[in-house]
Amino acid sequence: MLEIVALGGLGEFGMNMLALTWAATTIVVDAGVMFPDPELLGVDRIIPDLTYLQQRRAAALILTHGHEDHIGAVPHVLSVVDGPIYGTPLTLALVEPKLEEHGIEGRDLKPVRPRERVTIGPFTVEFIRVTHSMPDCAALAIHTPVGIVVHTGDFKIDQTPIDGELFDVHRFAQLGGEGVLALFADSTNIDRRGFTGSELEVVEAFEEIFTSATGKLIVAAFASSIYRMQILVDLAAQFDRKVAFVGRGMMRNSEIAQRLGYLRIPAGVQIRDSEIASYPAQDVLCLATGSQGEPMSALSRIAIDDHRAVKVGPEDTVVLSARAIPGNEKAIGRVINHLARRGADVIYEGIKHVHVSGHGSEEEMKLMLSLVRPRYFVPVHGEYRQLSQHARIAERVFAGREPKPEILLAENGDVIHLNADSAQIAGKAPVGRVLIDDTRTGEVGDEVLRDRRHLAEDGLVVPVVAINKQTGGLEGIPEIITRGFVMEDSQALLADGVRLLSDVVEQASVEERTDQGLIKEKLRVELRRFFRKRSGRRPFVLPVIMEI
Ligand SMILES: [Zn+2]
Ligand SMILES: [Zn+2]
Repeated sequence: MLEIVALGGLGEFGMNMLALTWAATTIVVDAGVMFPDPELLGVDRIIPDLTYLQQRRAAALILTHGHEDHIGAVPHVLSVVDGPIYGTPLTLALVEPKLEEHGIEGRDLKPVRPRERVTIGPFTVEFIRVTHSMPDCAALAIHTPVGIVVHTGDFKIDQTPIDGELFDVHRFAQLGGEGVLALFADSTNIDRRGFTGSELEVVEAFEEIFTSATGKLIVAAFASSIYRMQILVDLAAQFDRKVAFVGRGMMRNSEIAQRLGYLRIPAGVQIRDSEIASYPAQDVLCLATGSQGEPMSALSRIAIDDHRAVKVGPEDTVVLSARAIPGNEKAIGRVINHLARRGADVIYEGIKHVHVSGHGSEEEMKLMLSLVRPRYFVPVHGEYRQLSQHARIAERVFAGREPKPEILLAENGDVIHLNADSAQIAGKAPVGRVLIDDTRTGEVGDEVLRDRRHLAEDGLVVPVVAINKQTGGLEGIPEIITRGFVMEDSQALLADGVRLLSDVVEQASVEERTDQGLIKEKLRVELRRFFRKRSGRRPFVLPVIMEI
């Protein structure tokens, strides 16, 4: 009997992770993070609870592609993985710096190309090329003793991919012909009609932007959007602009993608961010991080005129070339307001077609269902409403087929038992979220896992600061509320903490003070440093700003 458990990614976006067990062998597909709501400060990343894997350990970790919601938790998950990590070359190259950051050495990273297979005990895992918003993405056909399990990974069907690497329709059709036991498929965009469209579709809008922009051009996108980078680099070369990558993630990923040949930059086009100032504004394109309004990102710093290399003014154009992840709209809105206040022309998805999703819409999902023709179907990668919509659509695709495929609407932790001719949800595995708190000091491994136990040891600190919405001035004296944080001389400590709060607010610029996201982040960083230095503890710091 095959046991499959989703440890994350069902009923939520992010944290994708699936465990498959046959007898004594467990393999894990993907190990993703979830990014917390920007308002939930004090938490940098969220990873799945690993209790289920601690009980059995894994013989291998298999990665479908290099997005954070699939690889972000790899360094944390390795403590329960005894064997190698398999993935395509780009995926593994994106994992490497994460391992370095965590001081993890000596792990066996095995590159696998599409159509290649690897065997782990009773499992043979085959990689199949799919198209998505970045290169080198794979679906998996996992051959097990009771049949083939197909996991789509994230995909859309882009018939004109930027790198010419086509979606492997043939292999999915062949597998469907051979007989597939179960299909696990991406549900992200199931509520969009039609087809998603090719990544190439953004070219037209960007051509217009390049033609009309008279000053500096700044495009914010996800650091993993390597196809988007390629499109913009090519346009920059065509329109005689130099390209600078701005922001840590952007610099790092563009460097990795270039090294591996996934991003081609003509000679003489790329400049360093420190060189931007020495070129006329109309000759520069900046590719920056911060499309989600993250308070510490390059674009947020640029927007409040606090970036050492990039300034923005009335002649300049800023493009947000990404979807707003639900929950981030407010933070993005604040960044757009700052940019608009500096006089920049700000373009985002609603204004021009500057973004295409990497996830297939309804028709692509239907095509996948009819190509693979599984005996059992499990929708994954989505909130519950997307999963149930995917199930409804599958009902229609399966109508009239004999025998009629069965649909299992599973949630995180549901233990699915599969045999050649039966499938059922047989129980519940422990699942949940673990909050992770980087201290952003750059020290290797300097990070704290925030589970309830840690919270109980180190406590919770809530600074409450009232700020005048117009002037940015402090209203009254800040307060610090603590829970589970008991120290001998805590009265004196808290009094100093309150003074620190006032100083931080007073030293911040008016723009920072009137931007909840920025000032909260500043207070959090400073206060955390303060408590660590003075008490040796790492309490959770959750600032509350009252705008008056
Ligand atoms: Zn993805
Ligand atoms: Zn994903």
